[in-house]
Amino acid sequence: MNTRRDFLQKMGASALMLQLSSLSTFANYSEKKDQPYQGRVLRVAIMGLGGYGTRVAEAMKACSKAKLVGVISGTPSKIKDWQLKYDIPAQNCYNYENFDEVKNNPDIDAIYVITPNALHHDQVIRVAKAGKHAICEKPMAVNAKQAQEMVAACKKANVKLLVGYRMHFEPRTLEVIRMRKAGEFGKVMFFQGQCGFKAGDPNQWRLNKALAGGGAMMDIGIYALNGARYMVGEEPVWITAQETKTDPVKFKEGVDETIQFQLGFPSGAIASCLSSYNINHLDRFFLSGDKGFAEMQPSTGYGPIKGRTHQGELNQPITTHQTEQMDQMAAIIFENKQPVVSVDGEEGLKDLKIIEAIYQAAKTGQKVKLPANVW
Ligand code: NDP
Repeated sequence: MNTRRDFLQKMGASALMLQLSSLSTFANYSEKKDQPYQGRVLRVAIMGLGGYGTRVAEAMKACSKAKLVGVISGTPSKIKDWQLKYDIPAQNCYNYENFDEVKNNPDIDAIYVITPNALHHDQVIRVAKAGKHAICEKPMAVNAKQAQEMVAACKKANVKLLVGYRMHFEPRTLEVIRMRKAGEFGKVMFFQGQCGFKAGDPNQWRLNKALAGGGAMMDIGIYALNGARYMVGEEPVWITAQETKTDPVKFKEGVDETIQFQLGFPSGAIASCLSSYNINHLDRFFLSGDKGFAEMQPSTGYGPIKGRTHQGELNQPITTHQTEQMDQMAAIIFENKQPVVSVDGEEGLKDLKIIEAIYQAAKTGQKVKLPANVW
């Protein structure tokens, strides 16, 4: 099984583009449309034209409710390429110095921030001050204080803040959540989430604490954590964690290589999770209740997500996650639709509060309690 990171690391740019163009041919699950969409389209500018920004842009070609209309980048040559490729007019192109001027641009509704983690905080706050809706990649910030400030800035500016939790729109994931809510697993007792890959280039920003805010936990472990919360359907009340570092040269102080963490939930359910930058083929969820189970592998990669429950194979439609996400985010912004699992800033903030507790537990070796009023 290839993880999405293997995929990005191994593919050359041209091969990647070929692969990406075929992705946009998958069905858009949200729109079983007999008629073309006639409503308001969310006009999006992408900030940060890197690996994931490229994937989102390609996937957006198949959106019916959202459209890529602008770019914000520090690399002029990329701006040129994207203008040609996506037919982006010059007046919708910005760099990191001048993008506050977007406030005078009536042709852009939202900005999707897809830059290194530590930049999200300032960039989202500037987007809010420019009066545009903000979509921000995970982790939404590098600590809970920053996330809180981003939530407050967007509230104050009366714009939406959504986080790129693409799994919250994935049909097979949503089916397991539906079954859990319907009681089909009985009383849920246990979740296991394993997310990781071998980080390649030692010089990439993901291994630089100043840009990444941490290591694997911030980047990929967050999928196991977020998955534990939406699979169990509760917020944790205690956390324990253990860190293992086999390569302190590559994974410097503050950049976690591998963390195992455990969560306890109010119902008594427990979760056991693994986050790693040094173990491949980790993309697996397992949920167990007293009447049934679900297992998914791959569980959070770009797909297709595969899995089964005690009732049989999961066979809901296969979607392009980013197409589905952007269409549904447009509906959240313009039609006030409520997703099954929230993707707002408060949701991103919860993950960061727990990540801070995981780091604290790993450092001290102590169980960290999260009182209910934390939420
Ligand atoms: P990349 O390194 O591929 O791209 C990041 C881009 O950000 C760069 O290409 C650059 O674009 C811009 N940038 C601005 N300042 C800097 C800087 N100081 N150092 C490096 N890049 C800079 O990263 P990814 O696209 O993989 O990740 C970006 C974000 O997306 C992260 O927060 C990550 O966690 C998230 N992500 C989410 C995924 C998901 O499935 N939801 C998957 C992968 C990533 P430019 O040249 O245009 O300025």
